[in-house]
Amino acid sequence: MSATQRPEFSAPIVSICPDLSKPILPALPEADTQMVCRRCGALDLPAVAPGSGPHAYKAVCRHCGAWIKWLSTRTQAERHARNEHFYQQWLKKAQEAR
Ligand SMILES: [Zn+2]
Repeated sequence: MSATQRPEFSAPIVSICPDLSKPILPALPEADTQMVCRRCGALDLPAVAPGSGPHAYKAVCRHCGAWIKWLSTRTQAERHARNEHFYQQWLKKAQEAR
């Protein structure tokens, strides 16, 4: 299937994710990036829907409704800095416990 073709899907997209009709949220760092759907192969901007558990949002295929990836409200650099901060805290605590 060509990436530009819209594949047919049997279920109405609204039943999979009610937010598919909403515009992409501009605040999310990755939401304006084209992504490939692993189910239907479409290459397009994702629809953004609320995430679950620790995930803020999810990118969903506009063509078939499949989940593509989790989206963060932070940029990759911000996530890296945050991970490093908490790792250093953990490391300090682990060294003090010796
Ligand atoms: Zn798809």
